[in-house]
Amino acid sequence: MQVNPYIAQMPAGYLFSEIAARVSDYEGKNPGKSLIRMGIGDVTRPLSPSIAKAFSQAALDMGTEAGFKGYGPDGGYLFLREAIIRNDYQPRGIHLDPDEVFVSDGAKSDSSSIQELFSDDALIAVTDPVYPVYVDSNAMAGRLGVYENGRWSRLVTLKVTHDNHFVPQLPRERVDALYLCLPNNPTGTVLNRAQLKTIVDWARENETLIIYDAAYKAFISNDEIPSSIYEVEGAKEVAVECCSFSKTAGFTGTRCAYTVIPKEVKGRMPNGEKVSLNALWKRRTGSKFNGVSYPVQVAAAATYTEEGKKEIRETIDYYRANARVLLDAFSGTECDPVGGVHAPYVWLKTPKGMSGWDFFDFLLKTVQVVGTPGEGFGEGGNNCFRLTAFSTLEKTKEAAQRVKDAMSRL
Ligand code: PLP
Repeated sequence: MQVNPYIAQMPAGYLFSEIAARVSDYEGKNPGKSLIRMGIGDVTRPLSPSIAKAFSQAALDMGTEAGFKGYGPDGGYLFLREAIIRNDYQPRGIHLDPDEVFVSDGAKSDSSSIQELFSDDALIAVTDPVYPVYVDSNAMAGRLGVYENGRWSRLVTLKVTHDNHFVPQLPRERVDALYLCLPNNPTGTVLNRAQLKTIVDWARENETLIIYDAAYKAFISNDEIPSSIYEVEGAKEVAVECCSFSKTAGFTGTRCAYTVIPKEVKGRMPNGEKVSLNALWKRRTGSKFNGVSYPVQVAAAATYTEEGKKEIRETIDYYRANARVLLDAFSGTECDPVGGVHAPYVWLKTPKGMSGWDFFDFLLKTVQVVGTPGEGFGEGGNNCFRLTAFSTLEKTKEAAQRVKDAMSRL
């Protein structure tokens, strides 16, 4: 059997596997040390009571003749798709039909699978630093050329750094697809309506598809910042939007997400003929996916009840307070923290220009705090470091103090 050479030639391991390996090695050699994990973007608060109740009731219903469900619709039950539209889109003046919303098991799977709709030689652009999944999935499909000196030869990268205030400069060359993650992982930064409009206008002029990952939209804390790209005029022609219940409602272990593909979004066949991406995704999903389990979709729908919304708000506020602790701790230091206001991530410059991995090892060994090295998200993350607000308040405070103490010793 011939293997997929593109996977076989991928650089190193997935970022979080490398972090886990270093932490486990440290723990093995230093038993009993109390580690604080501020690295991986996993939530810590449990499912809220009304959501857990809906989840378990639906599971019990599955054990009855009347309530049993077999395979569901590939794109999700209508009750969930309608609840998504009614709550996440209609109040913002965005009209969507239920068959433009595809319920799935994760924004990770959707944002990595969407490239199956692209031609083999499609040219891809990502911001840098970037959530690694967009790059890896295109690399595995053989679309990114060769990896040399830390770069892919066929990948357009748009730097988002402290120097340009995290606003990407649009590429000169035409690209087929641009991945945007807002609020951003890893930097925690956002773009306002006008900045997003510039990108949408450019995408319309160039027939570039925008894959808009809004996994962190629940953290947006005012109306100045769009929570959906479709709030921007014209975006329905050029953007697909990936959303998730993971960070919104604590579903990282429960697994439920959705992707919106408006019927207006079109791509081209080699002969120039236009085709609907919605139709292609429907075709692809019908062959590759058998839907999300019924109890999980009932639990996801419960996030939209009055009780569910109130509980979720409390949880998000809890994480926001953690982010505030981190921002306050590092403001006025050479770390120049950003993010943390509309996102659960705070992005720091490393002290004394250390590399992200050196700072990672330094914090692990001296104060047992685990963060994420910026360069794990691409070259643009060099000399930066990400801390998450997903821990407990107590641990967040303790970690902030430990990191500050460690820095004072440098
Ligand atoms: N998109 C971004 C930008 C993320 O940071 C993450 C998780 O960290 C995901 C998607 C994954 O979402 P899900 O749990 O729905 O697969």
